[in-house]
Amino acid sequence: MTNAGTNTAAPSPNDEARVVDAVPTDLFIGGTWRPAAGGRTFVVDDPATGKALTEVADASPEDGMAALAAAVEAQRSFAAMPPRDRGEILRRAFELMMQRIDDLALLMTLEMGKPLAESRGEVTYAAEFFRWFAEEAVRIDGGYAVAPNGASRFLVHKQPVGVSLLITPWNFPLAMGTRKIGPAVAAGCAMVMKPAPQTPLSMHALAAILTEAGLPDGVLNLVTTTDAGGVMEPLIRDGRARKLSFTGSTAVGKKLLEQCAEKVLRTSMELGGNAPFLVFDDADLDKAVDGAMLAKMRNMGEACTAANRFLVQRGVAEEFSRRLAERMGSLVVGRGTEEGVQVGPLVDARGRDKVVDLVRDAVDRGARVQVGGEPGDGPGYFYRPTVLSDVPMNARLTSEEIFGPVAPVIVFDDEEQALTAANSTDYGLVSYLFTENINRALRVSERLESGMVGLNTGLVSNPAAPFGGIKESGLGREGGTVGIEEFLETKYVAIGFGG
Ligand code: NAP
Repeated sequence: MTNAGTNTAAPSPNDEARVVDAVPTDLFIGGTWRPAAGGRTFVVDDPATGKALTEVADASPEDGMAALAAAVEAQRSFAAMPPRDRGEILRRAFELMMQRIDDLALLMTLEMGKPLAESRGEVTYAAEFFRWFAEEAVRIDGGYAVAPNGASRFLVHKQPVGVSLLITPWNFPLAMGTRKIGPAVAAGCAMVMKPAPQTPLSMHALAAILTEAGLPDGVLNLVTTTDAGGVMEPLIRDGRARKLSFTGSTAVGKKLLEQCAEKVLRTSMELGGNAPFLVFDDADLDKAVDGAMLAKMRNMGEACTAANRFLVQRGVAEEFSRRLAERMGSLVVGRGTEEGVQVGPLVDARGRDKVVDLVRDAVDRGARVQVGGEPGDGPGYFYRPTVLSDVPMNARLTSEEIFGPVAPVIVFDDEEQALTAANSTDYGLVSYLFTENINRALRVSERLESGMVGLNTGLVSNPAAPFGGIKESGLGREGGTVGIEEFLETKYVAIGFGG
């Protein structure tokens, strides 16, 4: 995923205007850019200044249905396109993204806030999904087998699941899209994509790139809207779309699962997290602090994989907290386009106010502020990198996603206590574990209730690996060799085998 880093050079205001002006801002339906019904638009802000960047089309439910109709029309011929050709489209899109990495990164920083160095990391990560699934498109397998009694034959092959609805959040505006579009294209599925209203511009730029790369009309339809439920629910309930792939909060994911039940849509759900970060007395503390910075501060803490609770064994707790506070306190906070900046603003006032509330609640219950503990200077939605120690287990931030640059440290005494605390959450996306003892590493990894474990590393995301959670963190996996399966159905043909 993205690598936290320091900006080296600031783009000029002319560069900023140029990348925003270059992006189409209409809906993209059936291969045509067109305004929303009634010409409605909504404003996209720069979270570092609170000022408007531009306006984009605000789709109505009728626009949504038009997008679905376009996808339905494109589905049959796209499914018949040779896998190699589908792969080549993704490969060309990967190359175009890498050629335009500077402009894509600047656009992302402007609409989302993360420092340019991190945006460049996300463009690379996002493009890698296209390269990976370009390679997977030609490896869709099947089988032929003799029935156990020898009297018939089994032919098994894979077919695209069909029209797919894709809904993405704002925190990784490109990567959360390519992680779905890549396997959908590889498998032969037409799509309706709805990005988050805070960060639609990256997806507009991506739709233009995919068109340039040769994606046929109607295969990717892009619908931006401020009425997510009003536009998407009729599409889900319609029945012609056969798949919903959603990344976002657990609360919204549960609602969508209910809607999908009516027509029994296939679903992939990448939902919220509450990652524990375990540091044992036998850990290499240098590695643990480096890992903590990555797991906590990538994307300003606005990541589903962000370490939410630092569970540290008593023998190293004080030293770990001191070193973490020193590193967190030295980070440069500012507008993501500026030179030297390492931490950008949170995405909006609501996100920043939630962090303010969670820290206040923890302090009221007895937590101590080691560093930070308050918002940064406005007008953007900044919050200072924060370390809290002596955090009681009843503080709200031990059970809620913080989604901000706040590291609560909780002390434990033994392995059993650590595992009980780590697993005492409804979420199960990722856990981090730092120990130099191989037996402990394997024992604890097996007992952590999460879809992914970072063992002596603060970074698990990789397009070639299966990303996903258990419990209320979701269903299904994105990336890896299983990622394409989410967009494929298995067809079995029973062959009579007489005489
Ligand atoms: P969110 O509020 O659930 O929104 C996610 C997307 O769903 C947005 O595009 C949103 O549009 C849309 N949406 C909301 N209500 C909807 C409805 N009724 N019908 C259809 N679409 C609807 O989440 P968020 O605040 O944007 O993103 C942060 C969350 O995403 C966190 O919980 C984070 O952990 C999770 N996340 C998970 C992963 C993962 O891989 N597991 C990765 C990244 C983020 P509107 O904003 O217009 O409502």
